[in-house]
Amino acid sequence: MSSMISERSPLNFSDPIPDTVDVVVIGAGVIGISIAWFLAMRGVTVAVCEKGRVAGEQSSRNWGWIRKHGRDRAEWPSVMGSSEHWESISRELEEDIGLARHGVLYLAEDEQELARREQWLAIAQEHDLDTCMVGAKELADIITDDASQWIGASYTPSDARAEPFLAVPAIARALHKKGVAITENCAVRTLDIAAGSVAGVVTEKGVIKCSSVVCAGGAWGSVFCRNIGHDFPQLTVRATVARTTEAPEIFKGNAASSGLAFRRRHDGGYTLAAGGNLEHFVGRDSLRYLPPFVPNILRSRKDFSLRFGDGLLDRLRAVPPWSGDDITPFEQKRVLNPDPSPAALHEIRRQLRRQLPSLADVELEEAWAGMIDTTPDIVPVMDSVDGLPGFFIATGFSGHGFGIGPGAGRVMADLVLGNPLGHDIKRFRLARFHDGSRLELGPTI
Ligand SMILES: Cc1cc2nc3c(=O)[nH]c(=O)nc-3n(C[C@H](O)[C@H](O)[C@H](O)COP(=O)(O)OP(=O)(O)OC[C@H]3O[C@@H](n4cnc5c(N)ncnc54)[C@H](O)[C@@H]3O)c2cc1C
Repeated sequence: MSSMISERSPLNFSDPIPDTVDVVVIGAGVIGISIAWFLAMRGVTVAVCEKGRVAGEQSSRNWGWIRKHGRDRAEWPSVMGSSEHWESISRELEEDIGLARHGVLYLAEDEQELARREQWLAIAQEHDLDTCMVGAKELADIITDDASQWIGASYTPSDARAEPFLAVPAIARALHKKGVAITENCAVRTLDIAAGSVAGVVTEKGVIKCSSVVCAGGAWGSVFCRNIGHDFPQLTVRATVARTTEAPEIFKGNAASSGLAFRRRHDGGYTLAAGGNLEHFVGRDSLRYLPPFVPNILRSRKDFSLRFGDGLLDRLRAVPPWSGDDITPFEQKRVLNPDPSPAALHEIRRQLRRQLPSLADVELEEAWAGMIDTTPDIVPVMDSVDGLPGFFIATGFSGHGFGIGPGAGRVMADLVLGNPLGHDIKRFRLARFHDGSRLELGPTI
């Protein structure tokens, strides 16, 4: 049975929009729902507006890895917090979201790759993380398939996973029970601004008055912000994923080699992706934001490709600015639901045969793709917006927002409320894209 969330999925959250709340959260992905969770815990009234479906975009389509391994230094405090928040939130849920700590393995086929994996060890040790290097002999005990092509791996046993199709909708249901209004098919068109400050949002269902708004719109973040004069660079890449039918257990956790990522699922199958299959569909934003992305593109050129077909002219067309009375791009595309790439699926099968003989012929029961949103330096924007009191942005999680989601939610909730954050989030400021700062690329692993 399909687990996909798309615009064909039934509406599960249909709260009438409230007239007034303290905070409106735009977007019901893992970031928006986590922000709402921590705001609600702090006694604040919240409404979450979702243009399509809760977790319809990246937050249900991802691999489900909750890793501390390989994180940017500035993300550490949020990541460590996130790991604990995932556990505490899941204890409060009435549903099993498949949360389990079975570790993350980064496999190496040659000395060069092993040295690259090893580089991260010093940072892990700085933070008392349980990452260690394992050799071929130990690996043969961890992966119960023919693991002879790997000479070693870095291994973080405390890293975890949860099932993306289950997790965010389950948290949203619990949040709804706590009295938070969550409304699907409810695009926020623009902000209601009075005397230079946020006074509310204009949604397709009417106005909600509030003193703070957080834009947690994932891939749509810069589209929304540009229309109100707070532009920042953000692009998307398509990533293709498949899940198998139930199959022999070869490793309980999450693992990546240079050609394949595999994760044992809660239902006994695997979630799979082929390495280096990121595709950017060239459009107007590619031209608009190219310069700051150049270092990122050069570094990841082996992993990604440009696509020019499939509606290039539409993507090049200028979208005129809109007001609260207009039908917006958010209503025109309720759920970003790209087709999976046939080439990526073919590569998954090829890599299974090459690397995991026990899974070589396992059936790929379902495939999907997601549009990953990324910033030029691969770390998010988590900030208030200068010149617009009451407006906050939490987006651009650049392919690693699921694991950090609850941690980022806690930070943003405290930022909105003016509470101490407990650590520095300067690296995630919006102004870095405009104030002449040298952008420092976050890690790829
Ligand atoms: C294939 C794939 C694999 C990944 N693997 C991992 C992984 O293993 N581990 C990990 O940590 N991360 C992973 N990621 C990244 C992770 O999924 C994302 O970083 C994270 O889900 C981003 O969450 P979000 O809430 O910011 O965005 P989203 O989940 O995209 O949610 C944003 C929501 O905002 C809504 N929205 C936008 N604009 C408006 C508007 N104007 N009004 C109302 N609603 C609006 C959208 O409809 C959407 O539902 C992966 C991503 C993909 C696609």
